[in-house]
Amino acid sequence: MKKTPFVTKKQLEEIVKEYPTPFHLYDEAGIRKNAQALKDAFAWNKGFREYFAVKATPNPFVMNILREYGCGYDCSSLTELMLSEATGVQPRDIMFSSNDTPAEEFAYADKLGAIINLDDITHIDCLEETLGHIPEIISCRYNPGGLFKISNDIMDNPGDAKYGMTTEQIFDAFRILKSKGAKEFGIHAFLASNTVTNEYYPMLAKVLFELAVKLQKETGAHVKFINLSGGIGIPYKPDQEPNDIAVIGEGVRKVYEEVLVPAGMGDVAIYTELGRFMLGPYGGLITKAIHEKHTHKEYIGVDACAANLMRPAIYGAYHHITVMGKENEPCDHMYDVTGSLCENCDKFAVDRMLPKIDMGDLLFIHDAGAHGYSMGYNYNGRLRSAEVLLKEDGSTQLIRRAETPADYFATFDCFDIADRLPKK
Ligand SMILES: *Cc1c(COP(=O)(O)O)cnc(C)c1O
Repeated sequence: MKKTPFVTKKQLEEIVKEYPTPFHLYDEAGIRKNAQALKDAFAWNKGFREYFAVKATPNPFVMNILREYGCGYDCSSLTELMLSEATGVQPRDIMFSSNDTPAEEFAYADKLGAIINLDDITHIDCLEETLGHIPEIISCRYNPGGLFKISNDIMDNPGDAKYGMTTEQIFDAFRILKSKGAKEFGIHAFLASNTVTNEYYPMLAKVLFELAVKLQKETGAHVKFINLSGGIGIPYKPDQEPNDIAVIGEGVRKVYEEVLVPAGMGDVAIYTELGRFMLGPYGGLITKAIHEKHTHKEYIGVDACAANLMRPAIYGAYHHITVMGKENEPCDHMYDVTGSLCENCDKFAVDRMLPKIDMGDLLFIHDAGAHGYSMGYNYNGRLRSAEVLLKEDGSTQLIRRAETPADYFATFDCFDIADRLPKK
């Protein structure tokens, strides 16, 4: 499928007059349409709720849009909890799906009325010592080990993943938690990441639903929800077929009818913790070509770098690039598109066939809406960019300003040198 930016060249030329490149641009209309589609796909389940994975796009303006569709938040750190708190959360609006959790973060999560999702059986003691009690509602994260396969394709390798409890441990955990006063239970698992197939969720659902039936039967614990977590992917490459969330929802419903309903568990709520699927396609990194270099290869230098979007640098991830205004020109030039970091992996594209790029051309780097800005860092003293929301009416709103040198130097504010560093 051809990848088309959600802005035109003309629109973008107006936007860059107000916000200098590079910046992340988000598409409100796309975010809303997709959030509604997810809601519709699971409307058959009375208790359904999406807990947006805050780490994907930790911006309160984005989070507030999702809240209009009933979303809660999936958090795994103190600052994610604080950010969610600042948007005004009610008890049970947060799923605290952390791992290797500092005790004080359990306490903070509990104070906010978050549902705590335990990554390990040993965390029961830690939680009880920290809070002085076990919450009435509690969730446990499951990891069956081995390989997670769909047909014969290996989707991911849970046996090598640090998360979750073994089968034996989750049974023990349920018994222990119940004996300590827990009344409502959840089960969570995240077994494969960025799956571009409609089969992942239904397959995961089958594993978890069957486990839930056994757990409820053998431990007497009441299973209130099953959390399918994240993992629904997006087509980063133009030749990939996008997931169809309606088909996925229907697939999960079928397994629900097959496994849970006959076991008398037709009241179990389905939760999700999607991040990439909620925001990935609805954000682009906007950058400008500022240098061309002809050496052993042809290079285009842009004003963004891996500090703004690190997935290509660390995973070799493909992000499609549109040269604005040249959508219909032949891709007859092979380029490496690079940022300025003193790291050779700082390339948004390697050996990519693109139209001829001229200096000043605007590049739209696709699918940067999730795990884009949020993975940014400050290597080489590079500053994080602004985030801008393209609203439904075509206007724009700054939803996070760009960092300034003063932000970068802020952690020296308790030292004398602060007086000789810029304050802005
Ligand atoms: C990262 C994460 C998610 C979101 O994953 P996506 O691939 O962005 O959907 C959900 N739950 C947990 C616990 C995570 O760590």
